[in-house]
Amino acid sequence: MYYTASLKGDECNRCGVCILSCPEANAIKLIKLNGKAKEIEICELRCKGCGLCVEMCPQAALEVVQR
Ligand code: SF4
Ligand code: SF4
Repeated sequence: MYYTASLKGDECNRCGVCILSCPEANAIKLIKLNGKAKEIEICELRCKGCGLCVEMCPQAALEVVQR
């Protein structure tokens, strides 16, 4: 069984704490949408589902889900 981090709801304020807390390179990052707005993107292949980002997110905007 595999797990991955996932955004839930609209509470993410793009603070970047999750990116700093993640031990896996490029598993979670900010990407540009429509050339300007930024959004958190999680790479399910790189994410190990450890849940560190979920614990560190000040907005409770992440969860670990089965993939
Ligand atoms: S730590 Fe939470 S609020 Fe901050 S960018 Fe990551 S998901 Fe968004
Ligand atoms: S669950 Fe772990 S590996 Fe996946 S994005 Fe969060 S901190 Fe990184």
